[in-house]
Amino acid sequence: MVAVTATTRSESSGEPPRVRLNAAYVDAVARAGGVPVVVPVLDPALAASVLAPVRALIVTGGEDVAPDLFGEEPRPGLGRVVRARDVWEIALIHAARDRALPVFGVCRGIQVLNVALGGTLLQDIPRECPGALVHHQPEGRDVRSHPVACLPGSRLARLVGEAATVNSMHHQAIARVAPGLTVTATAPDGMIEGVEWHGTDWWAVGVQWHPEELDGRDAALFSAVVEAAAR
Ligand code: MN
Repeated sequence: MVAVTATTRSESSGEPPRVRLNAAYVDAVARAGGVPVVVPVLDPALAASVLAPVRALIVTGGEDVAPDLFGEEPRPGLGRVVRARDVWEIALIHAARDRALPVFGVCRGIQVLNVALGGTLLQDIPRECPGALVHHQPEGRDVRSHPVACLPGSRLARLVGEAATVNSMHHQAIARVAPGLTVTATAPDGMIEGVEWHGTDWWAVGVQWHPEELDGRDAALFSAVVEAAAR
């Protein structure tokens, strides 16, 4: 079983809060031969218990991360934040680390992984990196819009190749990389698009793009999570 995180929120006023997750994530896990289990936002004290029956954790996309969690004030351009989700997912990542449980972070998930391990984020790419590529593509979730270069020999290079083209639906990104993480994918503007845990004692990988919306080699990322979970 692979735990897949969801958010809890209301889409508009008057609507009750709902547990929400794009089905593409659970479909991608199932296609890779895994059994996805959707995990809502809960009390951080429950993190180890929730992970007890699973073999891997996928931290999914969504809202911006609360800047106080990486020691910064909110800056212009910061979007919607669900702080309870941030705190919960950070607790899940710490609990996974304690057990050497495989972790895969997608989009917001790579950012939460980085913050959980002590790194920081850009709060809004267009404002904070004016020369950057357009990373918030309007065309569609499955449109590959910019290249990434993956570090030769890295897990990401083995899985998707040293040169790939990815979709891009983010306005935040990693700023200072957390201790223990290695940058293994970058966009041509230098934006960090992939990280991995540096050692062999923990399988932890994050990507800034959305492989669950893509086919071809990106499906290998979910296969890798399922394989890591089986070890
Ligand atoms: Mn991008």
